[in-house]
Amino acid sequence: MLGGGSNSTPWTRIARNMNLRIFLIFVNSNLIGKMRKTKIIVSSRSGFCFGVQRALNIAKGALKKGKTVYSLGPIIHNPQVVRDFSKKGLKVISDIRKVNSKGVAVLIPSHGISPDVLRKKRIACIDTTCPLVGRVQKIVQDFKRKGYFVIIAGDRKHPEVKGLVGMAGKNSHVVKNKKQARALGLKSKKVALISQTTASISNFKDVLSEIAKKDFTELVSFNTVCKDTIQRQKEASSIAKRVDTMFVIGGKNSANTSRLAKACKKVNDNTYHIESGENLKMDYLRNKKTIGIATGASTPPRAINEIIKRIRRFDANGGK
Ligand code: SF4
Repeated sequence: MLGGGSNSTPWTRIARNMNLRIFLIFVNSNLIGKMRKTKIIVSSRSGFCFGVQRALNIAKGALKKGKTVYSLGPIIHNPQVVRDFSKKGLKVISDIRKVNSKGVAVLIPSHGISPDVLRKKRIACIDTTCPLVGRVQKIVQDFKRKGYFVIIAGDRKHPEVKGLVGMAGKNSHVVKNKKQARALGLKSKKVALISQTTASISNFKDVLSEIAKKDFTELVSFNTVCKDTIQRQKEASSIAKRVDTMFVIGGKNSANTSRLAKACKKVNDNTYHIESGENLKMDYLRNKKTIGIATGASTPPRAINEIIKRIRRFDANGGK
């Protein structure tokens, strides 16, 4: 018998410790054997896209110079990142006329702005417009110069599209979808069709097929959906098909995240668009063996880690 107390010999103490260790090993292996581990598949196209990362680097550089830095609208469409930057001193404004022009820097966000905005006040700006958006702006200006009626497939309320309309001028029109494209009357027989960079590629094709039915003499179509958007959409949909639940993480005000969520919802009804771990309800995980994660182009990578941690905590609690 392995007794305790002051009478125990060194051997009994060693034996007691060994027994204790054996017991602990037994308990641990038992727990591991029963532990639930949800399979998580994260899209390789996650976190910031190159254009967003570039804009944030420029903003950081401007803030370091110690001037008052303003951003014309949110620098990117992600509330967490905008909050982080506001703590560092970045002020978001909606109207450039409100800026006192001395000793300040004004950032043009990654999705660009309309030239009209800058005409309202002559002020030096730091342009963080993504080069791919800049390319579309140039295409639009070129078509305008050549007298084309420019059709933009996208969301007229989105800042990028507002900027493109500002560049295309009056001889242009925005259509959101196939239905609006069908209803559109052409203002000119020479037509150019382009797309918002973060639009859905299938929607763009639908719009094109409707425009192609109209009475034109010339139709030029440019698929200007950016490569990152296309690849994100493809990979997220492919993952969504294979998992029990799909999380699409990103700002509710982010056009590309919302579109990604929509594309995933089409193939997996258990798709949830969440902004951060705080929106993750345990009900979404209950009885689910595989979880997929994709993010919009303006979602910080830390948002993915936050979700994974919550899933693992749920696993450690035995799925409760
Ligand atoms: S989604 Fe594409 S176009 Fe938009 S900022 Fe990112 S890389 Fe640029």
